[in-house]
Amino acid sequence: MDNTVHDRHEAAAKTVQNESTYSNWIDGQPSSASSEESISTLDPAISEPITAVPRSKQTDIELAVTAANEAAAGWSSHTPIERASIIREWISTLEEHREALGLIESLDTGKPKQFALDEVDTAIEYLHYYAGVAQGIQGEHLSQGPDTHAYVRKEPYGIAGLILPWNYPIDLFAWKAGAALAAGNTVVAKPSEEAPLSITRVAQLSQGILPDGVLNIVNGYGTEAGAALTSHEAIDKLSFTGSVNVGKTVMHAAAESVTPVTLELGGKSPFIVFEDADIRQAAKTAASGLFYNTGQSCDACSRILVQNSIHDAFIDEFISETENSWIPGDPLAPDTTMGPLAFSDQLNKVEEYIDIGQSEGANLLKGGGRPANEDLDDGLFIEPTIFSSVDNSSRIAQEEIFGPVQSIITFESYDEAIELANDVRYGLASGVATEDISTAHKAAADIDAGSVWINEYHGGGPGVPFGGFKESGFGRECAAETVEEYTHSKSVTIALD
Ligand code: NAD
Repeated sequence: MDNTVHDRHEAAAKTVQNESTYSNWIDGQPSSASSEESISTLDPAISEPITAVPRSKQTDIELAVTAANEAAAGWSSHTPIERASIIREWISTLEEHREALGLIESLDTGKPKQFALDEVDTAIEYLHYYAGVAQGIQGEHLSQGPDTHAYVRKEPYGIAGLILPWNYPIDLFAWKAGAALAAGNTVVAKPSEEAPLSITRVAQLSQGILPDGVLNIVNGYGTEAGAALTSHEAIDKLSFTGSVNVGKTVMHAAAESVTPVTLELGGKSPFIVFEDADIRQAAKTAASGLFYNTGQSCDACSRILVQNSIHDAFIDEFISETENSWIPGDPLAPDTTMGPLAFSDQLNKVEEYIDIGQSEGANLLKGGGRPANEDLDDGLFIEPTIFSSVDNSSRIAQEEIFGPVQSIITFESYDEAIELANDVRYGLASGVATEDISTAHKAAADIDAGSVWINEYHGGGPGVPFGGFKESGFGRECAAETVEEYTHSKSVTIALD
């Protein structure tokens, strides 16, 4: 009987090790990297290694790009319906491995297993969605008079290079690879070195289904394998999800070979609570909007803007919701909602920001330290933390903390709320709580962000575009236009006379 968190996680790590070895995946088979070195993957709930992935270098990227290049003509010559049918066969295999994939994702990232399983389901939904959308890709006939036949062909770029973060690995992989593959591109993807296992396993599960070389995974560090991929001249389209600073580096690299790039970057998203809102519901929504995934979501609502007249009532509800629903615990326990942070630099960063908040004069209402639960002592756990009386110009309100640290800011009027909401360099997402339909629509128009969620948070799904304004990036995931972003148009005109 596994009694302690340690026992449970060590047993789970063995299951993950027995499931597979996590090498690179190139040309339809496992590929050991050119270097002997590996990168250990850590279970943040107990700070022990799970397994390791290769530390790949330029040579490994070369191998993967060569395989992707050789597979490109065959894959793009399939009809969209043929590609969709192959992708659906892959999906069936993923469905059979749902439980194992959820366990791998939970262990590697620290997220509660119940949410990791949801993530597997969502990834599968996106693969289905894109496979369907790609069947509708159409060029068009252009009216140019009786002597000319003109039309537009929509063609895949060729090889898509995908760079992924660690916070929702399997989901974000599906967001990108699903669209790229369905549109007829081959793929070379580099998972984050912090959580590479689920993506590697998902690729292995395409064996014998996707033609060899269509999907390739190269593990390694960003500055090595990642940089080699983004600067490779044979990559025809790049898509990056990660931090703003690395996004800028990727964009510079893409500029060298004029490669089109999609950037999905960070956020400091506001949740505005107007005085006519259902306060209890708003508190519940705002709490899950931040604390889900232990605050490690690009679109987390890490600033709550509350109208002065309801400030105290809202704070009471928000604290009570936090205490009741967001309690750090063992990610493998079935009812846990909040796991540890994903790796030790994350914990250090979050603790540093909690110190910064206090030194900036914000009022620490709750949390701020490690949970008082000795079962969790070896893990990278932190309490949900709430600051009130936060100045919107302070660092904790302006910078992406990427942890469960909430900044509560007050406002008097509608105009002030919108000014504060937009007064950050980011523009990824936002939430609005109001019972007034006019306020809702007005705010939706006035907020500078790629998503506005009214009386909910983390809205959307397959078909709803997701992406940033301002320094949160450009390009859209999750929607029909995403598939288009993996194609380019070719105009053809024919003289008929
Ligand atoms: P990160 O920028 O540190 O790393 C992202 C990826 O880039 C990793 O695979 C990393 O190895 C790679 N990388 C690092 N340096 C590189 C280089 N020089 N060249 C090429 N690749 C390089 O980000 P992270 O810490 O993995 O993820 C967290 C960030 O991602 C947060 O800022 C978060 O907001 C953002 N994010 C955005 C979205 C979105 O859809 N907008 C979704 C999830 C996460």
